Amino acid sequence: MKTTIYIHDSGLRHDTGFSHPEGADRLATILGLLKETPYDTLPQGKVTPAKEEQILLAHPLHYIDHIRDSIPDHGHAQIDADTIMSPGSWNAALHAAGAACSAVDDVASGKTTRAFCAMRPPGHHAESALSMGFCLFNNIFIGARHAQAAHGFKKVAIVDFDVHHGNGTDTMSRMHDGSIFFISTHQYPLWPMTGLEEDNDESVMNFTLPPGSGSEKFRSVYETKVFPALTRFAPDLLMISAGFDAHRLDPLAQINLESEDFGWVTERLCAIADASAQGRVISVLEGGYHLQALKESAAAHLRALANLKD
Ligand SMILES: [Zn+2]
Repeated sequence: MKTTIYIHDSGLRHDTGFSHPEGADRLATILGLLKETPYDTLPQGKVTPAKEEQILLAHPLHYIDHIRDSIPDHGHAQIDADTIMSPGSWNAALHAAGAACSAVDDVASGKTTRAFCAMRPPGHHAESALSMGFCLFNNIFIGARHAQAAHGFKKVAIVDFDVHHGNGTDTMSRMHDGSIFFISTHQYPLWPMTGLEEDNDESVMNFTLPPGSGSEKFRSVYETKVFPALTRFAPDLLMISAGFDAHRLDPLAQINLESEDFGWVTERLCAIADASAQGRVISVLEGGYHLQALKESAAAHLRALANLKD
């Protein structure tokens, strides 16, 4: 089953300033991984910047204009409590959303079956008209809506194993027509302090994990809750918000996973996609802030996604 990487150097020019956790060194780390065996065997797809009509599938025009108008001519601009932009951020944001759409196009045409979009800025915290938590546009939701609008996919599932709740994707999925199913596991309590199980409905299922949960609790929640719900929904396209900040070395959270847990969850998700979605899986990078942990976790994720042997 062919797996294609979508990565673009515009992500290296989204400069969030010295000591910001979501820095360009994250993308450089993944670029380094892709030069190593066996990851260097994975083909790279063409990343086309998102068109306005694609971003409009998730965000209103006034918000797109607001982001564009807030880009500084030089230096940095802070657009919310956590999100910093530089002159290169607009192009990076267009390519980050565009990578998800390019992957969708290639999966829809059969050019590839699986995809990993290694782009930044991340997206899952971006609300319809609000930037948040290092995110400008909600890349994965734009990709999911593009899959429906341009290619006629009926049921898209988004599984989010980033350690933070994907609040933006949650809200957008709830507001949509039920054809996009969002399932998130995340640490609670932890910023953004949303995503409680009591709010679960037909289109959104959240499962919280307390600090210190570790591999066993994480795997148990997937075995008993996430996989059965996903199997019942039977998506024709599975997308993954792949954040690697649930790793035990990550400085922003305390779920304490090992790198291999990301391989395990990816392998199981791919098996569900094999059953209902002809194997189609599109993974989109979100968080992960310890560079060595990011590298090892992304490696485990890619080995499972592409069925690579060490
Ligand atoms: Zn995160």
